[in-house]
Amino acid sequence: MSGEEIEFVKEAFDSNWIAPCGPNQEAFEKEMAEFIGAKGAVAVSSGTAAIHLALRLCGVGSGDVVFCSSLTFIGSATPILFQGATPVFIDSEPASWNMSPLALERAFDEAEAEGKRPKAVIVVNLYGQCADYDSLKPICDRYQVPLIEDAAESLGATYQGQASGTLGRFGILSFNGNKIITTSGGGMLVSDNVDALAKARYWATQARDPAVHYEHSELGYNYRMSNVLAGIGRGQLKVLKDRVESRREIYDRYFQALKNIDGVHFMPEPSYGKSNRWLTVLTLEKTCKANPLEIINRLDAEGIEARPVWKPLHLQPVFKNCPYYSHQPENSFSDQVFDNGLCLPSGTNLEREDQHRIIQIVQEALS
Ligand SMILES: *Cc1c(COP(=O)(O)O)cnc(C)c1O
Repeated sequence: MSGEEIEFVKEAFDSNWIAPCGPNQEAFEKEMAEFIGAKGAVAVSSGTAAIHLALRLCGVGSGDVVFCSSLTFIGSATPILFQGATPVFIDSEPASWNMSPLALERAFDEAEAEGKRPKAVIVVNLYGQCADYDSLKPICDRYQVPLIEDAAESLGATYQGQASGTLGRFGILSFNGNKIITTSGGGMLVSDNVDALAKARYWATQARDPAVHYEHSELGYNYRMSNVLAGIGRGQLKVLKDRVESRREIYDRYFQALKNIDGVHFMPEPSYGKSNRWLTVLTLEKTCKANPLEIINRLDAEGIEARPVWKPLHLQPVFKNCPYYSHQPENSFSDQVFDNGLCLPSGTNLEREDQHRIIQIVQEALS
């Protein structure tokens, strides 16, 4: 927390708006939409809920197919199953670690041949970095398939100067405890289509029709964000820009200290945009003195938590029968990053001395 949040939370208490609606909720939606340059937003209980609503707005239902990035957190894809649809996973490309346009092309070619055009494509911005939308969007447009931007990790990042969250028909944000700003748990659906957002707001509030006796003509969900938590979000939004700067500085310090070690490669930042560097991530070649797991264990022995890269969704048991398109026909990029990748502690409150300790441990492990 930055200290800015408590005033908004106090307003919620003072006005007794302790409910999944209220002035903070409305203001948080408006302030976020203005911040990223979207026409509107719907505050919900999680990023996963926002993806679920976006899929339903795209008409995804039972028996449909949805394309989704494979190298991501599971929350990107579970809503596809909630809707009774089948995910088809798409590999990443080395330049951005995000959805490979080559793999996406092949997936569309085969889908057309089989008459199984997807209802939506979920593109993830991994670890705070935007995918290459100028390559991906024209492919989706050619088949008139809507693109959902999973910006859960990339709030504050830009693509060609445009804010992450506004790059698809729908954008989704997450304010889970581990994200760059948080409401402890929460999410948001953002779009320029205010009619679609009104529909999502209706579904997210148990699909209550306008009647005093609680009339329901459609299936809805209890997905709205609490007015108390929206207060936290309003305070957090005030420090988002600073957080992006701190995360980028943390990245720079790791980069300067570790870049000259043989076999160490940092997640690249393509010239088309600016990452929020949510996490500093690197890969280690097999020739390195230690592998990622050994470094994670060494750090753990010092009470420091580090993690491997997300296990790609096409390798997850829960999705074992889902199709997968790798970057090159015989070469899966995300499998390699999963084997060789390491996420370093990157929290905004990381002290310089603590980062120095982490750097020393990694340097010792690799020298
Ligand atoms: C965190 C995350 C989600 C899910 O957000 P929740 O708020 O935790 O439901 C979805 N996609 C990605 C890429 C994420 O990192």
